[in-house]
Order: sequence, then structure tokens, then C-alpha cells
Amino acid sequence: MRIHVRKALCGVLACGMLAGLLPVAAGAASTPFYDVAGTAWYASAVNYVYSTKLMSGVEDKAFGPNIEATRGQIVTILYRLAGQPAVSGKAPFTDVSASSYYNSAVAWANAMGIVSGVGNGKFQPAGAITREQMAAIFYRYASYKKYNVSKTTNLSSFDDQWQISSYARTAVAWAVGSGLMNGTDAKNVSPHTLTSRAVLATSLMRFCNLYNVKVPDVTAGAATTVVAAVPTTTTITEQSVPTAAAPAAVTTPAVTTTPAATTTPASGQTVSTTTLDGSTIQTPKYTFQWPVQGRVSSAYGSRFIFGSTSFHRGIDIPAPLGTGIHAGQGGTVSFSGEQGSYGNLVIIDHGNGFQSYYAHNSQLLVSKGDVVQKNQIIAACGATGRATGNHCHFEVHYKGQVVDPMTYLPATNNAPANTIVAVLEEEALPVMTQEMLVLASIY
Ligand SMILES: [Zn+2]
Repeated sequence: MRIHVRKALCGVLACGMLAGLLPVAAGAASTPFYDVAGTAWYASAVNYVYSTKLMSGVEDKAFGPNIEATRGQIVTILYRLAGQPAVSGKAPFTDVSASSYYNSAVAWANAMGIVSGVGNGKFQPAGAITREQMAAIFYRYASYKKYNVSKTTNLSSFDDQWQISSYARTAVAWAVGSGLMNGTDAKNVSPHTLTSRAVLATSLMRFCNLYNVKVPDVTAGAATTVVAAVPTTTTITEQSVPTAAAPAAVTTPAVTTTPAATTTPASGQTVSTTTLDGSTIQTPKYTFQWPVQGRVSSAYGSRFIFGSTSFHRGIDIPAPLGTGIHAGQGGTVSFSGEQGSYGNLVIIDHGNGFQSYYAHNSQLLVSKGDVVQKNQIIAACGATGRATGNHCHFEVHYKGQVVDPMTYLPATNNAPANTIVAVLEEEALPVMTQEMLVLASIY
């Protein structure tokens, strides 16, 4: 069995797609999300998963169609699809706390052999899933539900079929053969490409159509069947990660001793911006580089999120887990650590009254006191703190006041192409063993 290993990183998923079951406007034809156009190829799938409450937005009115789907999300979705059977006990992973919203989902999916951990007793709920992993997870879920999984396709029509991991070959052949998943083009099935939320929503809708699944009303309460959470020492445990797959070295930025290139604004050059209370103030003109490539999913200003209206102190730029976050300007790191809802936060003091904040990182690559250059990678993107998906929350402060970052950013995102500087171990899922099938059948 091939084991694909990427690098270990990242703290706990401190957020998620939890709550977010927003009410559906009756008879709404278009989607409730500003980032899903009615004409998008995935619009009907997004409407389907949203109206059946299988998936919700990642934030505010954003669905995040191009954001990668996470392990925590797919498990939560399948658990909803299964009617949320009651689970006794805690999921047997050190990074899944008993109080986390996905504890029951993970415990159930693990007990049923639908997913397993990534090794070292971890589940990595914020980890991204590849296309072959999604196929394997759906395949196991279908097997657990005793659906007919005999329809397959001949994978030899794909030039890259040799890249499919042995554990996932049957599942991919079934997923393509059943129309749940298409090739990424006529010649490729791209097994190791990460799954976007749009693709996940589409596959989910096709899965439900294929097997005529009636999505249970999850608000009606959990089913009464109790599934015991199983410890990782059963046959469902992971392959251990081979020594060759030891976590790769974290890219540690060189600490430079040269002074940061702070641009002192020329006197008389000012711009007007908006403060937290909505008033307009003048500040010196100053320009940051964008910290990461991506579109702004949530703007600065008041917004409705987590059930109430609040003021968003910065902008959000979604990017894949582990993507390098760049310093917007040179300066001195005045904070690098965990800070409440910011999660793993870096603050750079630019020495001219301006400070920039980079929040929700999975990993911090600079320390307090480091002098950093503009464009230097200072952290890896993540979803720590109060976040609903991997993104960079970017804030600008001027003399202690929060100001609109867009005032200080070029109109066009000028961050370098995204690079992954820290990634997760990939899971090599086991094939269904006889024990797992027996376990599934007694459920
Ligand atoms: Zn934010």
C-alpha cells in the first residue's frame, strides 16, 4: 500500500463549519451565497447541500466553493447523512476533544471504518482531502449502508491512473463509473488533487441521487442507536508513517540583521480611511503588499456571523492550509503566538505608526523581535482561533486604531503565487477489512 506523506503541522481545528445551519429562504431560486453565482456549474449542488442542511457556508454569506474541503467537514456531512446516530464516548484521537462539534461524527465514522486517523493518534480535522480520499470515504460509506457499489469504470482510460493509491483504486473506479466524480479532463483523474467544497457538494448531490438517499432532518434529533467509540488499537488503526516520511523540515526564514525597509510616508501625503466606529480619519499614505493570493471572502466592516452582528476588524483571504503568508511590509515582529480568537497570530510593527496583523495561521515562522522584510514568509495559512476555514485574516492598525486594510493595499492582489510551506500528513485509508464489515453490519 502506498502511503503519501506530506508534512506534519498545524494545531487544532479551532473552528469549523459547525453551527452555520442558516435558515433557507423559502422558494429561493438562487443561492444565498454571494460567491456562488446562479450560473456556476456547482450552483444547483450548493443549493441542494444547503437546503438539505448537509453543508453550510464557511462564513457569513460565503460558501467558499474554491476552498478545499477538510476531513472534519466530510465526516460531519456523512454523519448528518446517516442521521446522526448517537455515539457513546470520545473519538480516540488526541486532536479531537470530547467537546468539539465533530467529536461524535469522528467517533462514529472511525467506528464504522469510514475514516481513520493520520497516525500518531491524530485525526487532523483541518486537513484537506484529496480526490482519491473523497472517493474512498464515499465508497466506505456506501459499503456501510450496503448500497450497490458494483458499477465501476476501467481506469486504464486515464493516463495518470498509475498515480492512484492502491487502497483507493476500487473506490475511484466506482466513483467515476457511478458518475459521482469525473476525470479532471478526458485523460486525467488527478487522484492527489485537493477536493474543493464545490466538488464535494457536487459529488454529495450525485451520491444522494444515485442511491435515492433521503437526507434525514438532522434538526429532529439524534437517532437512538448507540455506537460505541472504538479505540485506535483495533483493526481500524492506521498504517504507521514510515520513517522516510518523517516530517520535513519547516522552512525557517533566515533572521536578517539588516534594518527593515520601512517606508516613511512623505509629509503631507495622506489618505482617508474608516475606523472601527465607522468614522473617517486621515493617515499617512502607506502601501502594503498583499499577504497571500486569493480573493477577499469577507470585507472590513460590520457583518453577521456566528449568530450576531459584529465588526470585522480586517479582511479575510482564503488560501489552502499550509500556504505561505507574506509580510505586507518590512518591520519588527512585535508578537508571534496564540491570541484568543486570532488563533496563531503575527503582528509586525512597521515603525511608522502602522502595524499589520496576520491571524489564524497553522504555523508561525517568525518570533517576537525578528526583523522581517517585505514579502518574507512569516507564517503558514490555517484556521486556528475563531475561523471557519483556512484563511489569512489581515488587519492594519494605525497608532493603535484599527483601519480599513483596503486603503493600504493595491487594487490588484500582488502577493506572489501561493506556495505550500507546511502541509499535513496525508491519510492512507485502509481497505474495508472483514472486521470492519462485521462491525458495520451489527450497527
Ligand atoms: Zn477575519
